[in-house]
Amino acid sequence: MVLAELGGKISAALQKMNNVTVIDQKALQECINEINRALLQSDVSFKLVQSLATNIKKTVDPSDLAAGHNKRKIMQQAVFNELCGLLDPGKPSYTLKKGKQCVVMFVGLQGSGKTTTCTKYAHYHRKKGFKPSLVCADTFRAGAFDQLKQNATKANIPFYGSYTETDPVVIAQLGVEKFKKEGSDLIIVDTSGRHKQEASLFEEMRQVSEVTKPDLIIFVMDSSIGQAAFDQAQAFKQSVPVGAVIITKMDGHAKGGGALSAVAATKSPVIYLGTGEHMDEFEPFDVKPFVSRLLGMGDWSGFMDKIHDVVPMDQQPELLQKLSEGSFTLRIMYEQFQNILKMGPLNQVFSMIPGFSAELMPKGREKESQARIKKFMVMMDSMTNAELDSTNPKLFSEPSRINRIARGSGHRVQDVQEMIDEYKRLSKVWSKMKGLKIPKKGDMSAL
Ligand code: GDP
Repeated sequence: MVLAELGGKISAALQKMNNVTVIDQKALQECINEINRALLQSDVSFKLVQSLATNIKKTVDPSDLAAGHNKRKIMQQAVFNELCGLLDPGKPSYTLKKGKQCVVMFVGLQGSGKTTTCTKYAHYHRKKGFKPSLVCADTFRAGAFDQLKQNATKANIPFYGSYTETDPVVIAQLGVEKFKKEGSDLIIVDTSGRHKQEASLFEEMRQVSEVTKPDLIIFVMDSSIGQAAFDQAQAFKQSVPVGAVIITKMDGHAKGGGALSAVAATKSPVIYLGTGEHMDEFEPFDVKPFVSRLLGMGDWSGFMDKIHDVVPMDQQPELLQKLSEGSFTLRIMYEQFQNILKMGPLNQVFSMIPGFSAELMPKGREKESQARIKKFMVMMDSMTNAELDSTNPKLFSEPSRINRIARGSGHRVQDVQEMIDEYKRLSKVWSKMKGLKIPKKGDMSAL
């Protein structure tokens, strides 16, 4: 996951603070230096790193970090606030309203994922009850119209474009007029990819914006963009009034810090993240939960949203109820494993829980992880109902019980032990769900 490495390094720097006996200016400076290094290595722009460090020093008083205080927590809070500040321009993006016609124009560098993201955005809003439509005003890239057409057809979304008209401004205008007449309430205009140096393309983008009068301009940015990100994003912002950002390819292995810098440059909120090539790999973005995840602080609200998306509807109320009670049984683990195997790696969901995905389903080792999960399930098939429904982990300290499960399932005692250990670990993680507010049955849309 993009930025995971950055998060890990910052967390490690913070962790060190707790191991130091005397916290003075020097120790504080060392911790800040380490955080700076991590940010720079992840391609966050130098200017931002400097201001972040200065602000942390201003807000953290070393005397607060004396014995008795949780030093890591205090520093973590300061870093958390700074990173949130970096990503939060302090003003919300334009809010779409169902039934109120609006035009959203997409801009960004070529290859950033603009065309893909237009369809994802349309598909996402259609699920929410909008009537979206797509206009392809990219005449620069050969095949752009075909790509949009293909995506739109697959998603069953009306589209407009032309093989013969070469002026994108004309296409944009005609497309927007057509869909306005047809009553679409979300008209999405895809424009040509740009590069900072291409002045003529920038001019074209300005003209498209002039004729379509978008209510919102979204800047699409590939998360792997490096140090150049800040300047690129600023160039877009200077040409047209960018109102929001979508960061794509968050599923990749890029360093991701450039994206953070670019967001700061546009002073616009990030509204969605692209997390894969598929239509549904698209999620709303919220600064605080995102930074929490980055720093390994967990993100329960995002987790609830996600679980809503991936756990079969008819199982949700019961599962959520059980989780809110904090009772994580082997049976729940079994059901969750079934879901994992059914839907492929649930990294998106589990990455939101600190310590979860990395161990249960590490990236790149999905096949082995699935085999391990299947093995666990075979062992659980040899357990009694009382064992599966028990919330008492002590039950499994009895060697005779472990031996019986091993024999019954044809596995070794140490395999059963490994499964029980996994259960205990997950149980600890899930116990944090206790007390979560659960929507009433039939009211799942409120999640
Ligand atoms: P455009 O030139 O900006 O319109 O970019 P495209 O929409 O054609 O996307 C370029 C490539 O990036 C395509 O191969 C897409 O499938 C891929 N892509 C777009 N978004 C994502 C994403 O969130 N994750 C991944 N892994 N690939 C993406």
